[in-house]
Amino acid sequence: MTPEAVAPRAYASIDLGALQRNVRRLADAAPKAELMAVVKADAYGHGLLPCAAAARTAGATWLGVALPEEALALRAAGDTGRILTWLTVPGDPIDACIAAGIDVSAYDVGALAAIGAAAQAADTVARVHLKADTGLSRGGATAAGWPELLAAADRLARDGVIAISGIWSHLAYADAPGHPVVARQVAAFESALAAAARLGIEPEVRHLANSAATLCLPATHYDLVRPGIAVYGVSPGPALGTEAELGLEPVMTLHARLALVKEIPAGAGISYGHEYIAAEATRVGLVPLGYADGIPRAATNVGPVLAAGAIRTVAGRVCMDQFVVDLGSDPAVAGDDVVLFGDAARGEPTAADWAAACDTIGYEIVTRIGPRVPRVPSVGREG
Ligand SMILES: *Cc1c(COP(=O)(O)O)cnc(C)c1O
Repeated sequence: MTPEAVAPRAYASIDLGALQRNVRRLADAAPKAELMAVVKADAYGHGLLPCAAAARTAGATWLGVALPEEALALRAAGDTGRILTWLTVPGDPIDACIAAGIDVSAYDVGALAAIGAAAQAADTVARVHLKADTGLSRGGATAAGWPELLAAADRLARDGVIAISGIWSHLAYADAPGHPVVARQVAAFESALAAAARLGIEPEVRHLANSAATLCLPATHYDLVRPGIAVYGVSPGPALGTEAELGLEPVMTLHARLALVKEIPAGAGISYGHEYIAAEATRVGLVPLGYADGIPRAATNVGPVLAAGAIRTVAGRVCMDQFVVDLGSDPAVAGDDVVLFGDAARGEPTAADWAAACDTIGYEIVTRIGPRVPRVPSVGREG
């Protein structure tokens, strides 16, 4: 924010320099692999286009998104690099993606046939990443379905309809690096690759690693890593350490400005259901963010907020648009800035703190921040 500008009710400050340093940190962790910055879900709530551009500048040769619409938005904004989209339903604009040179993913022969038809209609060669389900039981072909998927892809590739650009999978326990399922999935991935090799299929990239695996599981790096949450400076999970311990810097700082500061008497109940009762006469601040903005209602009486120089706890229920903090006797006035989460290095609560308080993960805390909260690039160090 420029000093002259009046800060809005609330805003998410986005530090693109920090994002770039995180991308470089992740690339250093996987020096032999290319890096795909995952920017699905509006870059985990941080704003798709600025984050995608910053990731490119920092060296991300690939961008990854879930939905074809997200991939098309990147192309429409002028991104000409490699982009992979991996979650489609029949009827999605997959033909537009293929015509736009976006890499697509196939989980089964039905999707592969649709990709082939779209490629022929567009008179182009579709770049396809075949996904193996190595134990997550989410997207991808199981070991039983893999030979059929490979054979169908091999036929289309020999006919010049598709190019098999990738073979890939996704881990169930990357945030628990010693878990036996990790090794089982790597072995299953190796089997899937070996089956492809027996058909003479040589994909351009083999990829398996998300953020946690990029940071902690070198055996999963292969040719390309796909970090998402770590790009945004949020730890993939408490077992792996804090952002600082992982060498990451939070990208989003969520600010609000107090709408009201007032005294309430001892015994006053705060917010719906009076789940917080003021033990003594106190000063309270009204924070103009609520569950409509993505503040979890589960933060009632537990969410941390930096206000009037100290970390307080949400007092009473989180409402749709607002909640209250108990400031005790500390001075504050309407318009003062408070921080819900940001960087522990600045004494702010973190997304991980909110996740712990609300029994969820840092991913959900940042991603659910809603469209009423503007994303404002922060003036920080260049990446
Ligand atoms: C979201 C996602 C990623 C990124 O995961 P993080 O844990 O955020 O690093 C990678 N690959 C796939 C398939 C995903 O869905």
